[in-house]
Amino acid sequence: MEFESVIGLEVHAQLNTETKIFCPCSTLFGSPPNTHVCPVCLGMPGVLPVLNRKVVEYTLRMALATDCTVQPISRFARKNYFYPDLPKGYQISQYELPIATDGHLVIGSNGSKKRIGITRIHMEEDAGKLIHHPDLPFSKVDLNRTGVPLMEIVSEPDIRSAEEAGAYLRRLRAIIRYLAIGDGNMEEGSFRCDANVSVMPGGASTFGTRTELKNLNSFKNVEKAIQYEIRRQIELIGEGGKVVQETRLWDPNRNVTTSMRSKEEAHDYRYFPDPDLLPLEIDKAWIERVKSELPELPEARRGRFISQYDLPEMDAQVLTSAKEIADYFEACLSVYPNPKPAGNWIMGTLLGLLNAEGKTIEESPIPPEELGNLLKMIDDGIISGKIAKSVFDEMARTGKPPKTIVEEKGLVQVSNTSALEPTVDEILAANPDEVASYRGGKKKLIGFFVGQVMKKTKGKANPKLVNELLQKKLEG
Ligand code: ADP
Ligand code: MG
Ligand code: ZN
Repeated sequence: MEFESVIGLEVHAQLNTETKIFCPCSTLFGSPPNTHVCPVCLGMPGVLPVLNRKVVEYTLRMALATDCTVQPISRFARKNYFYPDLPKGYQISQYELPIATDGHLVIGSNGSKKRIGITRIHMEEDAGKLIHHPDLPFSKVDLNRTGVPLMEIVSEPDIRSAEEAGAYLRRLRAIIRYLAIGDGNMEEGSFRCDANVSVMPGGASTFGTRTELKNLNSFKNVEKAIQYEIRRQIELIGEGGKVVQETRLWDPNRNVTTSMRSKEEAHDYRYFPDPDLLPLEIDKAWIERVKSELPELPEARRGRFISQYDLPEMDAQVLTSAKEIADYFEACLSVYPNPKPAGNWIMGTLLGLLNAEGKTIEESPIPPEELGNLLKMIDDGIISGKIAKSVFDEMARTGKPPKTIVEEKGLVQVSNTSALEPTVDEILAANPDEVASYRGGKKKLIGFFVGQVMKKTKGKANPKLVNELLQKKLEG
């Protein structure tokens, strides 16, 4: 039997405000334990939370960027449970009235576009962190993270494969970064994802029972865990078994998911409106202002790159996949306004280098303007494309500007006839058989002669001029 998989993702993204969601404590990461705490985030009796306006502002940006409906009135609710990292005994979240609903975003899937619905976006506070030490008979609690603002984004069950899940997550993260509201770093936990997975017979109209996968702390793990889980469920059903609704933990060492607990139900949490916080009212003016201040988003920028720079779809896609890459590209164009080759060098040579060194484009040893200067030297005939690659490598190694490297190493292209003529003559004299064949009609041999001259001049000869000289001598 053919099965179809159904996936819905719940993403928690940390918002990069300076202070926590309901108190003035710093959100700074990496400080000594329990140094960014106060009576509010410690859950002392008698203290009151005050909503951080920036958290609302940032969530509004996300809501509008994903075409959600912003609710004029939303409300905070208490989600009650006990855990040592939760001093209040409840997490303040939003439940029946979230700030935003019914959005979507567009991903590329198998070369076509696909719309993934967003059910809701809401705000909530993070919990603290437990630190387990293998040699100690107890665990420690760090409450610095308690009350750090999170935005939860819940997708519709519109995703049909692990690859689509990955594309959706990457797009979500790109939007968060374009909006400058979070860093979207999965490995560091500022962008977390739970995946709900079910399978059903192909074409069926009711979904199967889902499991919820946790501990997915990298894009690769999300995709691997979903793939594993789909296979597991299909095999289970094939053997006559039944999928049970439960929470499963991804084990990245063994590459399997294991049962963690039976799935909790909403009523287990005894949600109720938080009496300490007023309903949140958002007026039209606020929404309009945030909307008018939204930066250009990936989809729009991709469209602009195609129309303004005449780039192929694929190039525009890669170059806008992250804001930093798009910014780099445009900074390079400010010096070297030739989009196609600039894009090629960035996508091929630069991203290749960064990838190999495990760096992001912001850590590029070559500033965009200097890459532009390098490319300009090719177009100006100062260096050949081949030499440019070695100058590029030298730039990456030393951080020097291309002009300096070319001067220091004497790489300037030889573009004057009298300087090249002796070498051309020498090559022709050394290859009489090829000369004869060429004159006998094997015109393709021109490539061989050009190659020989280039080799002799260590790539410094201007290939166009070499070509002209050779033809003149061979045919004249
Ligand atoms: P909970 O908060 O209990 O996890 P939600 O109703 O908020 O439950 O749903 C969570 C996620 O599960 C959503 O992203 C939704 O799209 C997804 N989902 C719901 N039903 C299924 C299903 N049968 N298969 C896969 N995903 C599902
Ligand atoms: Mg869930
Ligand atoms: Zn505090």
